[in-house]
Amino acid sequence: MNSNAFLRTLLALFISIHCGYSKAIKCSAAEQNLKTDSLVAPKVFINTGFENASPMNWEIDSAGRIIASLVYDHERFSQNRANGHWHFKVEAPAGTDITVILQNFDNIWNNTHASQVSSRSPFVFSFDNKTWESRPGELLPGNRLQVKLKMAGPSVYIAGVEPYRISDLDKFLAKIKTSKLVAVTQIGKTSEGRSLEIIRIGNEKAPKRIFLRARAHAFESGGNWTVEGLVQRLLQNDGQSKTWLKRYCVYILPMANKDGVARGKTRFNSNGYDLNRKWDKEADSLIAPENFYLEKWMRKMIAENRKPDLGLDLHNDAGGNLHISRPDGDIRAYLAHMEKLEMLLRKHTWFTEGSTKPGFRNPGTLGEGFMERFGIEAAVYELNYEWAEGLKKAPLAADWISLGGMLPKVFYDYFENP
Ligand SMILES: [Zn+2]
Repeated sequence: MNSNAFLRTLLALFISIHCGYSKAIKCSAAEQNLKTDSLVAPKVFINTGFENASPMNWEIDSAGRIIASLVYDHERFSQNRANGHWHFKVEAPAGTDITVILQNFDNIWNNTHASQVSSRSPFVFSFDNKTWESRPGELLPGNRLQVKLKMAGPSVYIAGVEPYRISDLDKFLAKIKTSKLVAVTQIGKTSEGRSLEIIRIGNEKAPKRIFLRARAHAFESGGNWTVEGLVQRLLQNDGQSKTWLKRYCVYILPMANKDGVARGKTRFNSNGYDLNRKWDKEADSLIAPENFYLEKWMRKMIAENRKPDLGLDLHNDAGGNLHISRPDGDIRAYLAHMEKLEMLLRKHTWFTEGSTKPGFRNPGTLGEGFMERFGIEAAVYELNYEWAEGLKKAPLAADWISLGGMLPKVFYDYFENP
């Protein structure tokens, strides 16, 4: 073959391959068109691409309802799994009636079924991501929760509890840091390297000290709103707040499980660790740095003769009780103090729920661990996220802010000598 013949052969080969390829593409596109023509493109989109949005799979059923399958949050080395956080944005034309059915609430808690939804479960929604409203959800067979809304704009945020994100905390910290009464100290980092900080309000030389932790469990934003209300009230710098801060100083770890909050998870830290468990022993610095650094800080406080006189771990559940643990030993003084705390909460706030019954014990929670290991009288305070009985409504952020604003008086009277 001479060089011309060789080139002609090459050209023919190229044309043949190229045309064959084009034909294949056209054929495939035609097939695709046939397939997509038989589907109706949904006018609804679920957006989970933002801070604190919950991971989920979703699809639209033949009735046009959005079936949203939440992704379980798993505990390391146990069968426990949890779904209780949901937070997503629905995008659909204004005027559209939307129905979302949330599923995968078959939680496992200490080897038993422990669903986080009930016939009382509300949901919250916001069309502007600022003003939220609450509405009852509807429990469907199969342990699914249905929420229905008419689109008043092009998008709506929907969540289980009014969200409080890391960006909300950052804004709050930036605002309060300017006060002379406030010191914010970084005590360590989370599993994923986010900053863990302690807020101090008031004079560290005050005779009494209170320690509060919020957000050990990622979905439980109520604690963060309560902390905001408490701090705002203490910083009003009026006669009352000055009197209160002469008696006590407040230390707060405002968001223990920042990684879980960032990723829109329900309960565990990034290593599948429950930050309100295993307080009966030293925390592992790699698996539970959020607890490890808190312990380290607490040991320093104790070494400097600044041990807190009261510790409260703020949580959300569907019961709303003060969880008073009863470890071994003589705890009569502790029980008397907790009784006083409960009485003062009833007197000065809208708290009405009550406390755990005699015999209640939850080893490994911060309340019990702080008492057993550090001699700090402490309790877990659960804020009911479904129903605030004292207000006869499903609570929103403003309600917890108001509760937080009433706590300074509770603490003041708590430390009053009998
Ligand atoms: Zn909790």
